[in-house]
Amino acid sequence: MIHMTELEDVNCVKLVTKLGKAGRTVYMYIVDGMLIDTGPVILLEELIPFYQEHSFNLVMLTHSHEDHTGTASWIKENKNVPIYIHPKGIEICEKPVSYPMYRQQTWGIRKPFEVLPVESTIQSANLEWKVIYTPGHANDHVSLFHEESGRLFAGDLYISPETKIIMKDESIPMIIHSIRKLLSLNFESLFCSHTGFVPNGRAMLRKKMIYLEEIYAKVEELYNQGNIAYEIKRKLFPKNYKLIEYSEGEYDTLHIVTSILEDIKRKINI
Ligand SMILES: [Zn+2]
Repeated sequence: MIHMTELEDVNCVKLVTKLGKAGRTVYMYIVDGMLIDTGPVILLEELIPFYQEHSFNLVMLTHSHEDHTGTASWIKENKNVPIYIHPKGIEICEKPVSYPMYRQQTWGIRKPFEVLPVESTIQSANLEWKVIYTPGHANDHVSLFHEESGRLFAGDLYISPETKIIMKDESIPMIIHSIRKLLSLNFESLFCSHTGFVPNGRAMLRKKMIYLEEIYAKVEELYNQGNIAYEIKRKLFPKNYKLIEYSEGEYDTLHIVTSILEDIKRKINI
């Protein structure tokens, strides 16, 4: 399902996939002739008419995950516009699909596509955007900021203020660092790639940072008391999420703990 809303000069495109009874939501945006993200390939048939009706002269990807890059190969073949990503995402995009089966079933099987490395700024039709490297959710994750208007596209860095489960490749310390980087910018609201427009984006992002810093401190305290990762997980996140089993452990509350422990141990070794 595709649902469009206009917010000033931003075309917000809400995409919902069916997954059993529940749906998964992803947003993409068009601003000043720049398409930000391309949705999952499982929605390609619905997205083709949208792409035929709407013009844009470049594509900027916030990161390489398949729910944001799924229809990029169709765009490359049919719209002849350049597609950009952070240099660390190029190899992932140009290789055949490498993500696990449960994600292939949820988002479809993304085709490889040709992509260009983005630099520290990107020019849409009339505006210059700062490209801010914000790793933690993904190693190739960027946020886009237009200084004069204070508009911020934060990709998957926000999503929710209280993270309870993350993927194996994610890092809580890096997410905290990236959020702090964004909070140094002059913005009030933000555009999130899963929850859409967040009017009080600054306050919500700050809330998330404080929450994650508290988790960090609790993990550190329990570690200093002699608990190992599994014990810390059991104490801080006793709930058993279905997603852990469904994803065969790619998603787990344990990854929150281990990513923080890695950071603590690295600091001890310095
Ligand atoms: Zn993602």
